[in-house]
Amino acid sequence: MIENECFFYTEALKGEPLLQSEKLVKAEEITRPKSLLDKQLLPLWFLGKSFLQGNPNFIAVAFTQFREESIKIVNGNPLLRRIIFFPQIFANFSDSYRDCLLINPEISIPSEVDYYASVEGCGSIEFARLGMVVRRPYSMLLKTYVWRPGEKVFMGSMLLEDIDAGVMEHEYIHLEGKDATFYPENILNFTDPKHEGWNNRDETQEMVAREIREIALGNNTERYKGWLIHKEGKFIVVDSYGKHMRDFKS
Ligand SMILES: [Zn+2]
Repeated sequence: MIENECFFYTEALKGEPLLQSEKLVKAEEITRPKSLLDKQLLPLWFLGKSFLQGNPNFIAVAFTQFREESIKIVNGNPLLRRIIFFPQIFANFSDSYRDCLLINPEISIPSEVDYYASVEGCGSIEFARLGMVVRRPYSMLLKTYVWRPGEKVFMGSMLLEDIDAGVMEHEYIHLEGKDATFYPENILNFTDPKHEGWNNRDETQEMVAREIREIALGNNTERYKGWLIHKEGKFIVVDSYGKHMRDFKS
């Protein structure tokens, strides 16, 4: 039964790209998460799980990135979208948060937080074909309802650090109907040594620039078809050496 459902949702989503920036919408808060039924949540869990299984470059997915029709197929009424499927355990992600739906997540970032340079793509920015170096908080507090198959919805809160915090911020802003291009000040210009935001923790500009070249040159396959940077008030796409390729329209 479960395998059949999983197969169905994988098939339903095969080849379907995530929504791009201009179509993302802010998700409404889900009312009374604890009274949601397994039969409402299980199809959504499969939707997230199947999507990530079919797209191994993605770490997590926010449900505002799916077409409304896809969500309606699996769970029509009410439309539940203030959800992130979060599959992985990184530095500090406890087992009870693995492979779960995070429902109505709330994040708070300490005012004195350190930031790090995150090298990432986004399924909602040119179908994940562009790389970005994004300034992400090194830690945050996550408060969220959590659900996994076979368990009841519970409220949890925990401190996220490093990539956990970065991924969570990335997905959270999708629930707000936004993506990284809504925060140009956080997209680091790796071609400019004077760009503020570098030299936090152990990620120097040189290290990130080297990482970018390694990704571009590794195995002769380019994971990204260019890099998005914000320069002199506008977004442009450059190659791994910082050479201008084209303008960017979000
Ligand atoms: Zn994204």
